[in-house]
Amino acid sequence: MTTFDTDVVIIGAGAVGLACGYALSERGLSVIVLEAGPRIGEGVSSRNSEVIHAGLYYPTGSLRARLCVQGRRQLYPFLEAHGVPYRRCGKLIVATADAEVPTLETLWHQGQLNDVEHLELLDATAACALEPQVRCVAALLSSESGVFDSHGYLLALRGEIEARGGFVACESPFAEATPLEQWGFTISTGGPSATTLRSKYLVTAAGLDAQAVASKIEGFPKALIPKRHLGKGVYFTLTGRAPFDRLVYPTPIPGALGTHYRKNLGGQAVFGPDLAYVDELDDSVDPARAESFYDSIRRYWPSLPDGALVADYAGIRPKIHGPGEAQPDFRIDGFDTHGIEGLVTMFGIESPGLTSSLAIGDEVGKRLLKD
Ligand SMILES: Cc1cc2nc3c(=O)[nH]c(=O)nc-3n(C[C@H](O)[C@H](O)[C@H](O)COP(=O)(O)OP(=O)(O)OC[C@H]3O[C@@H](n4cnc5c(N)ncnc54)[C@H](O)[C@@H]3O)c2cc1C
Repeated sequence: MTTFDTDVVIIGAGAVGLACGYALSERGLSVIVLEAGPRIGEGVSSRNSEVIHAGLYYPTGSLRARLCVQGRRQLYPFLEAHGVPYRRCGKLIVATADAEVPTLETLWHQGQLNDVEHLELLDATAACALEPQVRCVAALLSSESGVFDSHGYLLALRGEIEARGGFVACESPFAEATPLEQWGFTISTGGPSATTLRSKYLVTAAGLDAQAVASKIEGFPKALIPKRHLGKGVYFTLTGRAPFDRLVYPTPIPGALGTHYRKNLGGQAVFGPDLAYVDELDDSVDPARAESFYDSIRRYWPSLPDGALVADYAGIRPKIHGPGEAQPDFRIDGFDTHGIEGLVTMFGIESPGLTSSLAIGDEVGKRLLKD
């Protein structure tokens, strides 16, 4: 009879891996989270908009729709209980031309179908009463949307795992896994304290490295590893006073939600991200990209002064679709898909992965424990 060192090994200590660790340790499993980097949450989870999405954009019945709504409902109380800063500030999605109004109506309907609370279509006067500097012909108000301190959230998740006896091992890159004959895995790690572990369950939550990690699991069908596409988005901050309290979004573009505005928890105005497919994992921000930002921001905030935008940071979406292709759902694959007992792999966990993370953790728990 095999003896196991731990019930579950999770690869990746971003929001998704840590939320899985939290969900599984809450179910009484012993958890080890392996993180390649020196600290938790330095991947996609630290380079995003820190927006809590309501869940209105995504096709009804998709994982993104269900897990975003459920994850958001779990996230606010979790942040409250752990003293993690957040603001349920609400969001205006704005139509800046008559031709965009039907898109707002479609989003409102999609939101109803997705069971999103507190959505309201507004005319220009009502939108301006909320945000006097906004220019639009109509808007959709989503009162459940917000912003939060994503790093504080990750620390709280780590704390919950450790409080239940779990362990988050940084500088411990996953190297390979071999399924055992009856059940479970032998898992090797590299790094300064390279080791080999036996675990009953294995979960991959490796963000941009999802494909590389899956390819190192013996017997994992290569045909099920989607091609990786890198969808880079850059952010610019505003020099000067933040013009709006609420999030302000244009209507969505294919593959992203559009270059939007948020007031971060420090009170600073941040614009972004845009979307450009790239070949390299390069987090630099080309200041020249500001030009297109001025144009798109002035459609809903005409008073943006010249020269007010300062290059800030970039994030790279772990996409599994190329330019012009329809955006697929999150891939959360269990035995039924890949045929390996005790394994859940994830691919393409881009937005709204942060908002959905607590619900993703529960979903992974259900698939592993089949309850
Ligand atoms: C520009 C941008 C804006 C976004 N805005 C939002 C938003 O406002 N709201 C929202 O809900 N979502 C947003 N998202 C999506 C969200 O950020 C991601 O879905 C989420 O952070 C993904 O978390 P993750 O844990 O899967 O990945 P990551 O945070 O990247 O974590 C994966 C971890 O795995 C580790 N790893 C990789 N290989 C190995 C290995 N071999 N061994 C061990 N560890 C390994 C990495 O070091 C990393 O720490 C945005 C994404 C981007 C790019």
